[in-house]
Amino acid sequence: MIEAQRLCKQYGGLMAVNDVSFRVEPGQVLGFLGPNGAGKSTTMKMLAGFLAPSSGRAAVCGHDVVSDSIAARRCLGYLPEGAPSYGEMTPLGFLEFIADVRGLSGDLRKRRLADVLGRLHLDTVLEQPIETLSKGFKRRVGLAQAILHDPEVLILDEPTDGLDPNQKHEVRELIQSMAADKTIIISTHILEEVHAVCSRAVIIAKGRLLADATPAELERRSRYHGAVSLTTPDAVAAKEGLSRLADVSAVEIDAQDGRLTAFPSAGKQIFDSVSGYLREQGIGFSELQLEQGRLDEVFRSITRSGEPLLTDAEVAR
Ligand code: ADP
Repeated sequence: MIEAQRLCKQYGGLMAVNDVSFRVEPGQVLGFLGPNGAGKSTTMKMLAGFLAPSSGRAAVCGHDVVSDSIAARRCLGYLPEGAPSYGEMTPLGFLEFIADVRGLSGDLRKRRLADVLGRLHLDTVLEQPIETLSKGFKRRVGLAQAILHDPEVLILDEPTDGLDPNQKHEVRELIQSMAADKTIIISTHILEEVHAVCSRAVIIAKGRLLADATPAELERRSRYHGAVSLTTPDAVAAKEGLSRLADVSAVEIDAQDGRLTAFPSAGKQIFDSVSGYLREQGIGFSELQLEQGRLDEVFRSITRSGEPLLTDAEVAR
């Protein structure tokens, strides 16, 4: 549904997007992750036909975004960063205008307008100038604009940025509800979002794509994957004893919450030996937990090092 092949965008001496390739299959929600300035918006603008690539190509629903731009744009909805619209228009006026631009008419137009106004709960603000709306409502107007023509592909640039937790939750639910029959890319630097809505994630930093994996695969690259953490009043004694266990490579005590974490040697399972040791020694503990891995730590280590993520197969080798 979406394909980027060796996309590059150069601004003067800066390679804002540098040789980025990926595909998004039907029904996938792809999280586009990266620190500020990584090249996420620039990539999305190229996919949405707003910016021409310096080199490389991209296609949406099989249509090249440069040579077959109108056809590509017909099948995609795009929410630019910050959800820009026309502040002096009302949501109804703005969406009527978008319906005109999208060539919607007759019954279909009525149905689509009713659908998006209902889905995005815009009924109470239909006649209020957009510039006087809260940030949450402005974002909803932007989302309504993006989905009005019921596109197969959605490109959403930071759809939850700057929203309060309830509004974030609402937008995520909306994305999830559309995920079954659409292909979606969302950019974010909020890692909890990846868990909440994404089936796959790519990580980009300084214009380069460094990872393309499922959230679970990313977690497996975390040094916390397979680690065992717990709370104990005897943290210092427990740390010393656990450090001597076979297959435990390190034990750390968190300076903030005092939780103790035992890390496994590569590929080893240590949950049973850690919990067994604590019981044998009569060391009291609570909240014993096997860690899946921490996305924030993987994100930091990849984006700081600039090194591409190893695949499972590469790790096994
Ligand atoms: P992100 O969306 O990941 O925060 P952007 O794609 O907005 O990153 O920006 C990538 C890089 O390109 C940044 O260094 C940014 O300053 C630069 N950039 C973006 N747009 C322009 C432009 N129109 N002219 C020059 N540099 C730009």
